[in-house]
Amino acid sequence: MRCSHDGCRWQAIAASAAGARRQYAEHLVATHTEQVDADVPEGKVQVRVDDEWETMTVEQARSYHDRFEASDD
Ligand SMILES: [Zn+2]
Repeated sequence: MRCSHDGCRWQAIAASAAGARRQYAEHLVATHTEQVDADVPEGKVQVRVDDEWETMTVEQARSYHDRFEASDD
């Protein structure tokens, strides 16, 4: 599994698809999720969705990305 972001070379190294998805979620949250300003409540992150920043919890961000990656099970 590779990251779908343009120019990102991240690649999952987990042996299982589920492990790879978890790594990918972690990567997305760590690398492609930003706390843009002080308006973001504690425990929430901003995720870029179709060129818009949306505020959501880390868990929501993970499940949001999981939806995109759920097809390879
Ligand atoms: Zn990436």
